[in-house]
Amino acid sequence: QCITHCPVGALYERDDIDPFMNAVHDPEKIVVVQIAPAVRAAWGEGLDLPREMATEKRLAAAVRALGVDYVFDTNFSADLTIMEEGNEFLERMTHADQYSWPMFTSCCPGWVRFVKSQYPDMTKNLSTAKSPQQMFGAVAKSYYAQILDVDPSRIFSVSIMPCVAKKHECEIPGMDDAGAGPDVDLSLTTRELDRVLKAELVSPAFLEEEEFDQPLGIGSGAGVIFGATGGVMEAALRTAYYVLNGKNPDPEMFKMVRGMDGIREAELEIAGIKIKAAIVNGLGNTRKLMEKIRSGEAEYHFVEVMACPGGCVGGGGQPITDGVELADVRRRNLYHLDKKNPLRFSHENPSVIKAYEDFFEKPLSHKSHELLHTDHEAWKMPNQR
Ligand code: SF4
Repeated sequence: QCITHCPVGALYERDDIDPFMNAVHDPEKIVVVQIAPAVRAAWGEGLDLPREMATEKRLAAAVRALGVDYVFDTNFSADLTIMEEGNEFLERMTHADQYSWPMFTSCCPGWVRFVKSQYPDMTKNLSTAKSPQQMFGAVAKSYYAQILDVDPSRIFSVSIMPCVAKKHECEIPGMDDAGAGPDVDLSLTTRELDRVLKAELVSPAFLEEEEFDQPLGIGSGAGVIFGATGGVMEAALRTAYYVLNGKNPDPEMFKMVRGMDGIREAELEIAGIKIKAAIVNGLGNTRKLMEKIRSGEAEYHFVEVMACPGGCVGGGGQPITDGVELADVRRRNLYHLDKKNPLRFSHENPSVIKAYEDFFEKPLSHKSHELLHTDHEAWKMPNQR
């Protein structure tokens, strides 16, 4: 099923509500939903829900009211991403001569497609860490299936994302490492969420707030800022500081990487190690930065790229209000949620710590590599066949 916003009907938007509700109504399936950080800052807009009502706990209640079995938080796997990607960065810094620089973040599928098609020789610079969506899917069909003591093939894994490119990401060859079909079976956008809530007559304004399910419903403030440009960088720096110094920094210490400017740079020193970082959002800005890197005009160790202006808060799957750009309002909302979260560091997420103790052993372990990392060069862009 497809819908169109295009005035001449030339462009259609894929709609996956029917297969989602079919899975919800299938008694054999255990429907596990993850909700991305940026969704909580925007979901109420399409329902005319005032921002003070559109809380993350009311969002959990609304999704549960659709009849799904478990409602979890992608912030959990954003924290897991930081553990893997942060340690990968430190490992690359330790053996700097063996790697091509800078290291690029890899959690935005719009950006991954861009680099693979426009700068294919730099695909190797991408972190091998999967995105939080894909890490969550792999965890749901391995570690969480083990917790539930069910066959992983019974789990139907759904993500609610601010993004249309995430529908492509869960179909990339190799994103089935848990061995039970695609790790993420279906990805819905924030707009589809709002539509299915209306279609199923769920009125969030009349619902009490509810907690996410556990143990995959715990996320830190570092996880929630993944939804804003600069958030992945800041979350990674908080944990890199801890790993290198053995103690936490002030959680606000790296806030120089925040903002809405298209390209931002930061030079930092952590435990005597100098790190030159860049943060870019929007693919036009990304191309400018890539040309500078390629020509040698700019040199960095770590670059965060988000394809959408403002990052996922401004994602292509978010509600659209004609003539109004709400990315910055949503971004500020996420930093507010970070600040009021008692957990500010990914490495302190108790569910992440337990997942390593009980299943993954440690960041970059053999099992982590099997389930939480990917080879970006193993699949080809359609025009490379
Ligand atoms: Fe998707 Fe845009 Fe976020 Fe990239 S920045 S993950 S394309 S919403």
